[in-house]
Amino acid sequence: MRYISTRGKAPALSFEEAMLSGLARDGGLYVPETVPTMSEAEIRALRGLSYEEVAFRVMRPFVGDTFTDETFGDLIAKAYAGFGHAARAPLVQLAPNHFLLELFHGPTLAFKDFAMQLIGQLFEEALTRRGERVTIVGATSGDTGSAAIEAFKGLDAVDVFILFPHGRVSEVQRRQMTTPTEDNVHALAIDGHFDDAQARLKDMFNDFTFRDDVRLAGVNSINWARVLAQVVYYFSSAVSLGAPDRKVSFTVPTGNFGDIFAGYIAKKMGLPIDRLVVATNQNDILHRCLSSGAYKTSEVHPSISPSMDIQVSSNFERALFDAYGRDGNAVGQLMDELKAGGFNVSQGALQALREHFESGRVSEDETLATIRQAKATMGELLCPHSAVGVKVAEDHRSTEVPMITLATAHPAKFPDAVEKASGIRPPLPARMADLFDRPERMTRVPNDLGALETLIRERIAK
Ligand SMILES: *Cc1c(COP(=O)(O)O)cnc(C)c1O
Repeated sequence: MRYISTRGKAPALSFEEAMLSGLARDGGLYVPETVPTMSEAEIRALRGLSYEEVAFRVMRPFVGDTFTDETFGDLIAKAYAGFGHAARAPLVQLAPNHFLLELFHGPTLAFKDFAMQLIGQLFEEALTRRGERVTIVGATSGDTGSAAIEAFKGLDAVDVFILFPHGRVSEVQRRQMTTPTEDNVHALAIDGHFDDAQARLKDMFNDFTFRDDVRLAGVNSINWARVLAQVVYYFSSAVSLGAPDRKVSFTVPTGNFGDIFAGYIAKKMGLPIDRLVVATNQNDILHRCLSSGAYKTSEVHPSISPSMDIQVSSNFERALFDAYGRDGNAVGQLMDELKAGGFNVSQGALQALREHFESGRVSEDETLATIRQAKATMGELLCPHSAVGVKVAEDHRSTEVPMITLATAHPAKFPDAVEKASGIRPPLPARMADLFDRPERMTRVPNDLGALETLIRERIAK
């Protein structure tokens, strides 16, 4: 199994190399050269299996000879052992033919744990075998950073530095990043916005001396291994509703297009998915693009579903690559145009995208109303991101095909918005009830590349 870049100019890599390098050297994203398929019989055989066993069977063909069967199985088991629910990704019914896939039972209460917990294990195993260490630096608006710290804390082969905007993440998110006590965890509060954190991270990757000296690695959502880990729950949930003998549809609250792209991979593997519906908040570049073909950036408008407040949807490049007949030059050209503000998708490519993806947009008021209504009529307390999904799903529901909406975070991770909408302040699950009592540890850092690089060099020299 080889991985190729969406811009066609970087060398093809193995799974291990693609995972450890993250971004391709030509600026593109890695995708599998061919997507392995599962037969109807193989999909049917997933019925009744544990989440871990489904994960093994779905991901195994993508991993090639990077890990033996036994090792890969052990790493999957370790990755999901810390989840607070035996089913890992339980499915609950909301309404006739409408189901909610709860992806928030991991250690940081958001779906990012599914991928991050697994790649923590995969990184540690691959690096230990190679006798190497890496420095992971990530920028976060909240959920990615907490998931990364939780996944990499205490591992021997990595140091993990997370840059978050000082004073601009929720208290739960901050505490999840600042309370782990392991020496290899470094929570850095930068004086600036999320965009500043992300810009400094990019600067570090472009400073090749620094990048090579500290062996910089990235785990943001463009890492192929993260997409792969998310393919699994499309299979586990669809099979429990009767796939492959019955079609299902999915609605996915999305920002960077990572989670919904995993659904598209599941479909290409042979899972009978009827519709994949993109749900956006008021930052609706994806909805605008699928509606009109125009992919134009605008300002980010902060919302009550902050993990979807993005200006550019980085994983969308993977969907464009397929829509343009896997023409890396065409994708490279679009990305050049994006630097100048945006591009128009060709008629042919737009048609190809619309064969797979539908979309909807939800306003702030509609999000609050959906949280209120879902509690009153479905008995379910939704986080604001999941509410965006539920609203769009209700608008796209059919009587024939069951709809599964992905619930991406636990309501207790966003208590202010949930309380505003419903009057209920959701408590943290018992296993993390002491989060507010644990001592915090973080370093304030200026929005300055030189200062950041010096700090990182000093910390890893110890
Ligand atoms: C990251 C995140 C999203 C968006 O996921 P993408 O992969 O960027 O589409 C949605 N909801 C929550 C709670 C998140 O943390």
